[in-house]
Amino acid sequence: MYQTCAFCNAHLDGDGGPSGLGVGRRIAFDEWRGRLWVICRACGRWNLSPLDDRLERIQAVARAAQEGRVLAATGQVALVRWRDYDFVRIGRPPRVELAGWRYGERLRARERERASVVVPLTIAAVGLGVAVNVAAGGSFGFFVWNFARMADGVYVALVGNRRVTLSEPPVCAACGSVMQLRARHLKDGRLVTETHADLALVVRCPSCGAEGALLTGSDAAQALRRGLTYLNAKRSARRHAELAAREVDQMGGPERLVREVSRREVTLRSLRPERRVALEMAVDELAEITELERQWQEAEEIAAIADGTLSTTPELEEHLRRLKAQAKGDQPNG
Ligand SMILES: [Zn+2]
Ligand SMILES: [Zn+2]
Repeated sequence: MYQTCAFCNAHLDGDGGPSGLGVGRRIAFDEWRGRLWVICRACGRWNLSPLDDRLERIQAVARAAQEGRVLAATGQVALVRWRDYDFVRIGRPPRVELAGWRYGERLRARERERASVVVPLTIAAVGLGVAVNVAAGGSFGFFVWNFARMADGVYVALVGNRRVTLSEPPVCAACGSVMQLRARHLKDGRLVTETHADLALVVRCPSCGAEGALLTGSDAAQALRRGLTYLNAKRSARRHAELAAREVDQMGGPERLVREVSRREVTLRSLRPERRVALEMAVDELAEITELERQWQEAEEIAAIADGTLSTTPELEEHLRRLKAQAKGDQPNG
């Protein structure tokens, strides 16, 4: 296997794990078509592995993937984490098992970000508080407690002020102004059902306050993620992580949850806190897996050409037949 990405020349990271390729931390495989790729971390492109020993390598990766945890899945693509590796499994719809730890992981990242704002402010305040309280003889504990809450408010305000960058800024249907949306403006957004879009978000105009535009597709996803991150930025959202994870599972996965919220057409801010956290997690998962599916389609086109001669090998034909028979046997709980 080459050491660098064929598209951007960056060094491929990782050691390939069970694939035995010696490189790769994110590896995609398709047992059905006999494909194996190393995904470049720098540019996200898929590097097709050489044909030598490819089938054995795919089997080794598939075996490891079976022990891994499915993070997200569409009908065609599943993202599986096993130890330090991410496997992208193509083909057979896997059992969707979205586990709470995944959400915990995301929330921990947010907690670190929050701490980077809140802790320095609080430390500064404690120093100040000691000075002030010693001088005034007041209640030091009360001061610190109050300040920690205020620092949290500063963080929430920072998140709320983040700009929402869309492919094209929407124009308000009511007042005609170009909407410059920030995360906090999305609190009154409403997910709605649209025949031609997976995701449709009605947004309120920051200038006139009317529900002035409908975002769909990736713009809706982007705005929704910004808005939910803001609404869930409060420290108390952490308490809902477990409940939120269970909520996504009970709903039958991220897609169903989004559909259910869209059906109700309520504003984001009026959702129950745990549902709001659940929705944020679901939208994140969907964005990642949708992007992976898009990348796979592109990579598969190239692979089909590159491997053009492959199907003439009798050994391979036999192997694929065996895999397909095996796959049929596995299907029922699919
Ligand atoms: Zn690359
Ligand atoms: Zn307006």
